[in-house]
Amino acid sequence: MRKRERKRHTHTHTHTHTRVLFLITMYASCSAARINITSSSSSPSAVAFTRTFNKSNKAPSPLKQKRTIQTLSTSIIKTTRASSTSDKMSSSQTTKTIGFLGAGIMAVPMALNLLNNGKHNLIVWNRTASACDPLVKAGATLAKTAQEVCEKADVTYVMVSTPEATLEVANLAKDGISDNKGYVDCSTVDRHTAKKVSDIITSKGGRYLEGPVSGSKAPAENGQLIFLCAGSESLFKEINADDANQLNQMGKASFFLGEEVGAGANMKLIVNSCMGSIMASFAESIALCEDANLSKQDLLDVLSLGAINVPMFGMKGPGMIASDKSTKFAPAFPLKHQQKDMRLAVQLADELGRELPVAATANEMYKRARRDGHDDEDFAAVLHAVRRE
Ligand code: NAP
Repeated sequence: MRKRERKRHTHTHTHTHTRVLFLITMYASCSAARINITSSSSSPSAVAFTRTFNKSNKAPSPLKQKRTIQTLSTSIIKTTRASSTSDKMSSSQTTKTIGFLGAGIMAVPMALNLLNNGKHNLIVWNRTASACDPLVKAGATLAKTAQEVCEKADVTYVMVSTPEATLEVANLAKDGISDNKGYVDCSTVDRHTAKKVSDIITSKGGRYLEGPVSGSKAPAENGQLIFLCAGSESLFKEINADDANQLNQMGKASFFLGEEVGAGANMKLIVNSCMGSIMASFAESIALCEDANLSKQDLLDVLSLGAINVPMFGMKGPGMIASDKSTKFAPAFPLKHQQKDMRLAVQLADELGRELPVAATANEMYKRARRDGHDDEDFAAVLHAVRRE
């Protein structure tokens, strides 16, 4: 066994949290123009992952220089890449037909990145066909049915709203699936739904990968999403290869969390329950600041200087402190989807026999905001549920 592999196999499950924390820190602090990091562990929930940082959003290059860095709990292979346009073009010679089902806030920019940067043929379908207009304008073909998309595409991506929607779409698409075709569902769903979709696709001979994403509208537009994949490893490798121009055109990092379908869904829900809880707490702090007659700008400034500075505070904070009860928060991440994720995370914890008091309480705040009519606003509208209005 080579040295690197030996290190991987000594990596235990108990190290996973440390590693995730380390990686989050790396995201925040890494300033290299473009680096690709690969690693893996023997943990059943995190068998292996590869990821690509792409701070400058430039295209990948086949040129790599590898070096190993040792951290507290894991060894990581770090690959730096050149990022010139000519490198990008040389890596995008093969033209494939890619399918896309869905045309919402996330699907449209993701599909546009595949089309514009990946140089693929793109065939698209959405329940409401007119939502595909920006894609058709950019050169995509509009299909009449989801089945037609899968029939014509080598790999089909899906990005729709809820577990119900993703099951419905899989059932509409399944007759277009045949041997070895790829089906990558990026919607945020629970593990049971992911498994049902996987069964639908694999029963037709297709390969299934769940690939929910961390990142919102702007990261989707800028090709900076983080893919949390599980399922078919061969499909993951195929679409994550440098010259595939698929995951790396839509995202900056791709984790392969194992062949067991559900790992991606679970990781995504864990990440989003953390995000939703932080946002709910942030909203409470803004409301408390108002009650205490303190400057909300001072609050943002203090937070930005300390150890709990979170990019989300900088992105959402100014709009939140400037808002009042009449404000409609333009959606990047619709509040109804955040509440769905909190609900599914609480459900996951329930199934695993774990208490989740912080996320469960935050979930109640999002439910309140939904009841008050803020479904289609950004999840920052949870502020309406906590401030005196
Ligand atoms: P969105 O803008 O609300 O779009 C939802 C999409 O789902 C639309 O294409 C919609 O089609 C389709 N859809 C809904 N119900 C359907 C059904 N029964 N059958 C077929 N299609 C259906 O949502 P989004 O913000 O792009 O989010 C999509 C997914 O990504 C969600 O799971 C969300 O949790 C997740 N996500 C979102 C963000 C974000 O920041 N927005 C970030 C990460 C992950 P119509 O046009 O016909 O309604």
